[in-house]
Amino acid sequence: MKIILIGIQGAGKSTQGNLLSEKLKTPYLSTGHIFREMAKEKTPLGRQVKEIMTAGLLQPDDLTAQVVQSYLKRLEYKNGYIMDGFPRTLEQINKFENNIDKVIYLNISDKEALWRLTYQSDGARPDDSVKAVRKRIELFHSVTEPVIDYYRRKGILLEVDGERSVEEIHKEILEKVK
Ligand code: AMP
Repeated sequence: MKIILIGIQGAGKSTQGNLLSEKLKTPYLSTGHIFREMAKEKTPLGRQVKEIMTAGLLQPDDLTAQVVQSYLKRLEYKNGYIMDGFPRTLEQINKFENNIDKVIYLNISDKEALWRLTYQSDGARPDDSVKAVRKRIELFHSVTEPVIDYYRRKGILLEVDGERSVEEIHKEILEKVK
């Protein structure tokens, strides 16, 4: 099964993605994680990725689609995956669409996202500054909400209230996915 997780940063996508991955025995991958690793590289590309990330901005669609495509060619993802963080723009859907089965939208309010990212984060990520967090929330509404609408129209969107306990959310996701 090919599953996509969408939600504002801080919505719990990686927590839920990893739980679901264990339960469904399906590999989890996150574009945020891939880009954080790329940002550590001391190359022109690594530096560019880091700069964009630190500002709370999205990486270019071309680069993102290329990165995802190269990962998904790996044998381990042949039978399915749980993808956290891609696609985030309509352009990314145009560049790379891969017969997705379900899209899980973890919905939390901006206020909750701001609180979680600003006060509950360990500050270890390059994009944890308040300014970057606000930018990421703003971009979520302007460029990622159209992606959610796209999947809603396709009839494969599962919307989940993300402001509950990890266990409750996990249970609901499992019920909805089956
Ligand atoms: P995340 O951990 O999903 O919040 O992603 C962290 C950062 O990685 C984002 O702020 C972007 O700079 C980059 N990133 C992750 N996924 C994407 C994507 N689908 N498109 C563009 N940039 C992305």
